[in-house]
Amino acid sequence: MNFDSYTDQGVEAAAELVNQLTPGFDRGKPRPLPFEPDGREQLAAQAEAEIWGVGSEMSVQDAEAFFALASRLRTVFEAAAADDSDLAATTVNTLLQDYHAAPQLARHDGETWHLHFQSQEKEAGRARARGATCATALAIVIGSHGLRRMGICQAERCDRVYIDTSRNGSRHFCSASCLSRQKVAAFRARRSRAALSGLTVADQSARDLPSGRG
Ligand SMILES: [Zn+2]
Ligand SMILES: [Zn+2]
Repeated sequence: MNFDSYTDQGVEAAAELVNQLTPGFDRGKPRPLPFEPDGREQLAAQAEAEIWGVGSEMSVQDAEAFFALASRLRTVFEAAAADDSDLAATTVNTLLQDYHAAPQLARHDGETWHLHFQSQEKEAGRARARGATCATALAIVIGSHGLRRMGICQAERCDRVYIDTSRNGSRHFCSASCLSRQKVAAFRARRSRAALSGLTVADQSARDLPSGRG
């Protein structure tokens, strides 16, 4: 399933921003955030460049604005995972307001009219413009598909978020790596249960033997 391409970009950007700029666990490993301003500026600039394909050095204020945005976006994914539609919707509404989202139909480069997810402020800071884009895309997805297309990875030691674009909405993991980690964990759990019950059977038959003979 696909949302339209602008919505796709916006919600994928939101998920990616959460995954890169909020602390927690990432595919089995702790993911702390850097503490030093230098490290934080670098990480935020790198995230913006990876997600939007453009980016340059970032001031500490811009960087902190990106971390704040990521943490607020995370609330939306957590609300979705907890099936709390009121919290998800009110958080998105607050984001739309705070980031002055002002979607506009635009036409350029021979394309048909399409929605631009911009901020009202012409000179919006970098995080504000990105925030307006992410909030608008999330609003469209939640408004038309509810919460079932957003989630938090269900693998052990992972809390990265995802957008579910699978046809039947069957996604549970952030990545192929978490899917296979979880398969291995499930296999081990089955094997150890089998081993445990095998032992019990053996123990029992050993205990039963004398009485069986007697
Ligand atoms: Zn355009
Ligand atoms: Zn994961």
